[in-house]
Amino acid sequence: MSDNQDLRALVRTIPDFPKPGIQFRDITTLLLDPWGLAQTVERLTALAPEGIDLVAGIEARGFIFGAAVAARLGVGLVLIRKDGKLPGATVAVDYALEYGSDRIAMHEDAVIPGQRVLLVDDLLATGGTALAAARLIRLAGGEVAAAAFVIDLPDLGGGEALAADGVPARSLMAFD
Ligand code: IMP
Repeated sequence: MSDNQDLRALVRTIPDFPKPGIQFRDITTLLLDPWGLAQTVERLTALAPEGIDLVAGIEARGFIFGAAVAARLGVGLVLIRKDGKLPGATVAVDYALEYGSDRIAMHEDAVIPGQRVLLVDDLLATGGTALAAARLIRLAGGEVAAAAFVIDLPDLGGGEALAADGVPARSLMAFD
């Protein structure tokens, strides 16, 4: 089935969340569906290139899919979190949001230099979050082999931004 229309039908759209004019693509309905959850994990895992050593999950919904994909690939999972949440020594980077900026962090010893890392998150919009995550992985000496998302919002250009940074982005479905 092209563009995973069967899974796409399980994503709920909430208008005007978190602010007026935003169409929020809500994956909690996909998670609630036993078949949908299992298929999403299986198809996301199939997007991974050969030779992945580690999955990086981006807080918070990226943890859900990242953990499941890592377990299926037989590799470990590194958590990329909002700064200030991780207990050990971290590397951190700032990145721009539509209004203001944010800072994400990762344990500095989580990636072994040279490891090929697969980034996983629920949704790709502008790509700002994933680009910041890629910087963190490279700071720790890792190679960002690819990024996998459940949903892409292609109008926001995240796929192009990641490609320009040398990261192939793959997703299961797109929304306007
Ligand atoms: P970006 O950094 O602009 O690519 O935004 C992607 C980040 O924002 C991801 O971590 C998503 O979880 C979150 N995000 C943005 N829009 C949505 C949405 O419509 N539904 C769910 N998450 C979203």
